[in-house]
Amino acid sequence: MNQFPNFEGVVFFKPTDLINGQNAWGNPLKISREHILKLDALRKYIGKPITLTSPAWTPGSGHSNDSQHYLGTATDIRCKGLSYMDFYIACERFEFGGIGLYDTGFIHTDSRPIPKNQPGARWIRKNGVYVPFERVNFLVVCDLSDKCLATI
Ligand SMILES: [Zn+2]
Repeated sequence: MNQFPNFEGVVFFKPTDLINGQNAWGNPLKISREHILKLDALRKYIGKPITLTSPAWTPGSGHSNDSQHYLGTATDIRCKGLSYMDFYIACERFEFGGIGLYDTGFIHTDSRPIPKNQPGARWIRKNGVYVPFERVNFLVVCDLSDKCLATI
């Protein structure tokens, strides 16, 4: 019997994955199968390890109340094997409803539903502040994240 049916057939991620000694998923049973399958496909596509940078589902973990993290449909992920920009471009191929770029080297991905003919949610957070999703901020966040990843 599979204790985690939402992970069934998933190749690159396990419900027992750890980060800093904690379960990477928070509670693996809370994570949406659709989101896990999308992450697994992304991981297969880029051919390089992806790590979660904070537990995916954790109650009271400081996200906004309507955060996708509390719905089990979000993960904050990092890939050291690609430039931050290339990792972002790869993420865009997998129809994540929300993608957030952070200057500390991780990318928030979520599987929120997006109404037909509407753009997905996209944002950039730099120096602790949300800034417009525009070219200049995009280039800066990619540069800062690459520098950050080089030190990890
Ligand atoms: Zn997040």
